[in-house]
Amino acid sequence: MELHEKVLEILRRLKREYPNPKTALNFKTPFELLVATMLSAQTTDVHINKVTDILFRKYRSISDYADAPAEAFQKEVSSVNFYKTKAKNIQGAARMIIGRFHSEVPKTMEELISLPGVARKTANIVLSNAYGLHEGIAVDTHVKRVAFRLGITKNEDPVKIEKDLMAITPEREWGNVSHLLIFHGRKICQAKKPQHQECVLYDICPSNNI
Ligand code: SF4
Repeated sequence: MELHEKVLEILRRLKREYPNPKTALNFKTPFELLVATMLSAQTTDVHINKVTDILFRKYRSISDYADAPAEAFQKEVSSVNFYKTKAKNIQGAARMIIGRFHSEVPKTMEELISLPGVARKTANIVLSNAYGLHEGIAVDTHVKRVAFRLGITKNEDPVKIEKDLMAITPEREWGNVSHLLIFHGRKICQAKKPQHQECVLYDICPSNNI
């Protein structure tokens, strides 16, 4: 099977398994999604949703984040890994959005990655889930592992993996690819004990015996 065909088949099967591919992070505005995504590195979405459930009730506007005393804001997110750096970046991003982008989360990759602490993964998640725009494919640890095991990339660097996935996936699917691989990585193709026997991709996966 050609690689393009294989990817389409993978997506077809995964869509059947996970019919509603979207981010598990809770948010109501693009800025809330940006905050949740920035907090989520190295932390589970379940935990982030608990933290943001309280945070979003207290911090309503972008200015609330920008104007909060640094120490007080750090405290709000102190149960999250690397909270000091994340808090600093979120407040820096809030100030930059107010000062440079007229208080609106930008809608382009170039502008988003100019915000402190925002790399392509976060930018892709915000563009896709808040605005329905697709400039690339968000590559997290699940996407990286599952794509590698499925043989649709040979790279380990997220930026190169993203390029590989973009080259072999139709643009209309860019928003779905990441969610589908993440859902599959969490439920079946786990890092330590992949459930090959339960996997709908078993017959087309070169790693079905690892
Ligand atoms: S067959 Fe195994 S390694 Fe391949 S995608 Fe399924 S769970 Fe992952």
